[in-house]
Amino acid sequence: MQNLLSGIKPTLLMGPGPSCVPDAVYKALAMPTLGHLDPYFIRIMDEIKEQLKTVMSTKNHLTMPMSGTGSAGMETCFVNLLEPKDKVLILINGVFGKRMQDLASRLGAEVDALEFEWGTPVLLDKVEEALKKNNYKVVAVVHAETSTGVCNPVKEIGELVAKSGALFLVDAVTSLGGMPVLTDEWKIDAIYSGTQKCLSCPPGLSPVSFSARAVETLKNRKTKVPNWYLDLTMIINYWEGQNRSYHHTAPINMLYALDAALSEILNEGLPTVYERHKKAHNELVTKLDALGLEMLVTPEARLPMLNAVKIPKKIIDAKSEANIRKRLLDEYNIEIGAGLGPLAGQIWRIGLMGHTARTENINTLCNALKTVLS
Ligand SMILES: *Cc1c(COP(=O)(O)O)cnc(C)c1O
Repeated sequence: MQNLLSGIKPTLLMGPGPSCVPDAVYKALAMPTLGHLDPYFIRIMDEIKEQLKTVMSTKNHLTMPMSGTGSAGMETCFVNLLEPKDKVLILINGVFGKRMQDLASRLGAEVDALEFEWGTPVLLDKVEEALKKNNYKVVAVVHAETSTGVCNPVKEIGELVAKSGALFLVDAVTSLGGMPVLTDEWKIDAIYSGTQKCLSCPPGLSPVSFSARAVETLKNRKTKVPNWYLDLTMIINYWEGQNRSYHHTAPINMLYALDAALSEILNEGLPTVYERHKKAHNELVTKLDALGLEMLVTPEARLPMLNAVKIPKKIIDAKSEANIRKRLLDEYNIEIGAGLGPLAGQIWRIGLMGHTARTENINTLCNALKTVLS
């Protein structure tokens, strides 16, 4: 039987995710599938939890990957912590902050949104002001806003939120594995990530971690968690304890891949990995500058792993922005990302996530861009 798989061309993934996958991770995906309650597989689950704790800088007991992509992690955090009428504050400066607002609203929470200009970071004095006016149960923010390339000051926001007594919920989908994410030190109560960004694993799992306070909140709920699949009160019986019991069949081979991806990162060493991302970012900015391309975000607020590049006016006027991306993909097998929302058509998003963040990839992209833009 013929199918399309033999026609897949290796693509240099330099967009907002997925990122390039190391061979060790592909090999892990192809290992023999074990049963989801096989004792050897349970040892692998425990190894994943330990590795995740290290990468997330946390001692949180409840740290594990949820089945599903980053959005499943987002849903897990909100759905387990919120009950109808709970007051939530969402700090928004891009697509993923907006998504949090939508999600929290669907749960019947009372959602306040504090919006900041896209392409700029969350401002602390505005957060402090909002926290003085209201008592929130949860305050949520995106660490690395993938839609704009902005890094939000999570550590500083965490201090303000802790003083207010609210739970602090953080999206670390793009930041985890590419820059420090200090869950405990930054006083984060609920955090989620995704495998296909800086963890350099195919999409399909979402690491999540809950602090002791968040677990306490979960235990003291008055209502059942309204989503059966993501209900942590049930899922922990599969991920924790001596007698593991079935909840849903774990995506076994995806979990092998995550285990391998985390080992790759920890073997290279977290400081080395972060330094590689920074160095790659600096090289890219220098090379883009030489091509006459400017960055959207000011240097202090820039993410290393997601680079928002302003599209030159002559290209916007010629309506050829999509054509440039198409040529990169068709002629060079390189993928970069388009702008989203108000930034659609205004920026390109160049990812330097995980395994992608290497000099040779930057050279390949910039050489191709040079030809395509001339
Ligand atoms: C990609 C991303 C998500 C959503 O993850 P999916 O894997 O696409 O579901 C959420 N938040 C941020 C910041 C992201 O970059």
